[in-house]
Amino acid sequence: MGLFSRKPVFCAVCNKELKHKHKPKKEWNINGRLCGDCHVDKMQEFYEAKVRQPCVNCGIIKKISDLWEPRWQWDMEGLLCKECFDKKEEEFVRRKNFCSLCGTKLGFVRYNTKSRWKVEGQLCKNCWDSEKAKHG
Ligand SMILES: [Zn+2]
Ligand SMILES: [Zn+2]
Ligand SMILES: [Zn+2]
Repeated sequence: MGLFSRKPVFCAVCNKELKHKHKPKKEWNINGRLCGDCHVDKMQEFYEAKVRQPCVNCGIIKKISDLWEPRWQWDMEGLLCKECFDKKEEEFVRRKNFCSLCGTKLGFVRYNTKSRWKVEGQLCKNCWDSEKAKHG
């Protein structure tokens, strides 16, 4: 009977002949069986992959606990490293306080651009007037 064939089975990763076969998890995308060592390695690798993520801005890979969630106003998906977070925040504050076109510091009164102007951020009165004249 071919049921208990003694064909040796080899580890799909290191090719060692297997005495104890370990079944890889589906999400590992491995065909075949693994030895104990490779199984442990893969477990670790995938665990790490789960708790590590690249910064969506610069791509540096960090532990999720070291990454920052962008502020909702930034309209971003994913996580940022501390550096990119700080940069974004600075950029955002700058954008919030200065005219996007001429860079004048905005006072209490500021003007929101209209979406069809294709200008982001806020404008001083002068720039707003001239954009309005240009685009209507
Ligand atoms: Zn192996
Ligand atoms: Zn980054
Ligand atoms: Zn301006």
